[in-house]
Amino acid sequence: MHSVTHVGGASRRRLLILDDDALVGSTLQRMVVRHGLEACSVTTVGEFLRLLEEWHPDILCLDLMMPGMDGIEVIRLLGDSHLRAQVIITSGVESRILHAAERSALAHGINLLGVLAKPYAVGELRQLLARAVDSADGADRATGAACPAARSESPDAAAAGTESAPLTADDLRCALERGEIGLAFQPKLDCRSGGLVGFEALARWQHPDRGSIGPDVFVALAESCGLIDLLTCEITDQALLWLSGLARRWDGSEQMRQQLAQARLSLNVSALSLGNAALFLRIAEHCRALGVAPQRVVLEVTESSAMQDATTALDNLTRLRLQGFHLSIDDFGTGYSSMVQLVKLPFSELKIDKSFVMTAAASEESRAIIRSVVDLGRSLGMTTTAEGVEDAFALQYLKELGCDHMQGYLLSRPLAPDAVIPWLRTREAQH
Ligand code: C2E
Ligand code: CA
Ligand code: CA
Repeated sequence: MHSVTHVGGASRRRLLILDDDALVGSTLQRMVVRHGLEACSVTTVGEFLRLLEEWHPDILCLDLMMPGMDGIEVIRLLGDSHLRAQVIITSGVESRILHAAERSALAHGINLLGVLAKPYAVGELRQLLARAVDSADGADRATGAACPAARSESPDAAAAGTESAPLTADDLRCALERGEIGLAFQPKLDCRSGGLVGFEALARWQHPDRGSIGPDVFVALAESCGLIDLLTCEITDQALLWLSGLARRWDGSEQMRQQLAQARLSLNVSALSLGNAALFLRIAEHCRALGVAPQRVVLEVTESSAMQDATTALDNLTRLRLQGFHLSIDDFGTGYSSMVQLVKLPFSELKIDKSFVMTAAASEESRAIIRSVVDLGRSLGMTTTAEGVEDAFALQYLKELGCDHMQGYLLSRPLAPDAVIPWLRTREAQH
């Protein structure tokens, strides 16, 4: 059984609620409708998955603890479906479990809006919804699929079916050929001084029909269809070219110009590419041609089982370090073999996974992990970078621990290439 409250207007954001307690669901539904959203509540996973497919909600509100159902399994299914809706997790379980679920959602690549421990105040929910509306990209939903109530009157949902068709290797190949894959740059700052350290290049696919598609969707696709090295080449070419002209484009202070001439560039490299010596040779040659010192380039690798061919990876990574490139172990703390990789491979930076940093204020466990990673980095003589700095608490905590570098929405969201100079100008004016 599901109930829908439709307040009209195709542009209204849609919230789908899954809670085994129909009363909780309908109360929540009424509350969000008052905030101008369209809402629908269901009590079973089956109905939930059906509406997800047919109704295209923008926000999902999931109860983790439902008798006879597994909230974590639902999270896994959502992750596998490469869903772009934002997710709110609610539950009456103790906070340690709720935080574990939060990490699991992040690990599955879910666009998590937040967690709410039951019972929660209306204000907390309102804050989350306001955040969802803030970050809403109106162009995300190209066609407004009808809500289930309206659907029965107007069964023409062909457009919605096409819209959710999975992306294929051919789509990605065309996108690479047509130059639809571009970049966003997220500033990386020094924890102590707040000064600029560099930028991380993050891939973005500007699809002509579907709008902006995140790398969590298409990097996995590239990996599974053998296009990852091509994607990495495209990204590194664009990013190195951008970096090499950065100081030249700066029209402000000489001090900043010098900082920009030394700014570092972090590039994400799939673990699957670690065996590809030709790819690294190409990156090194491109650096030489553009006059970018390898010491300014950080290659970030996420540890994974893909690193099994440890010997070739070790050869290539060691070669890169010898040439002066920095190597960073990304998402540190989430994998199974962090310590093993660390000892075996010549990494120079540890990047603390954002799932810990984002939850530092709320979770003692996350703080303990951040603390030990910073200690580990220090004792191994490695740079530590924290990603996912979203609040003042995390910033202060990292400073106190002596973490080296940081990135996060609090400091700056990933920026379009042309937005970087204006961002720097605003920042310089403020300081
Ligand atoms: P990552 O390397 O861990 O990148 C950090 C991700 O966290 C980025 O997501 C970034 O936009 C996001 N982020 C940054 N600050 C915050 C924050 O304060 N809060 C939150 N919640 N998120 C924050 P994005 O751009 O969607 O990238 C997702 C992942 O896709 C990356 O994770 C990386 O693993 C992969 N990726 C991105 N670009 C490339 C690429 O060019 N090549 C490869 N192989 N992978 C890429
Ligand atoms: Ca990264
Ligand atoms: Ca990361």
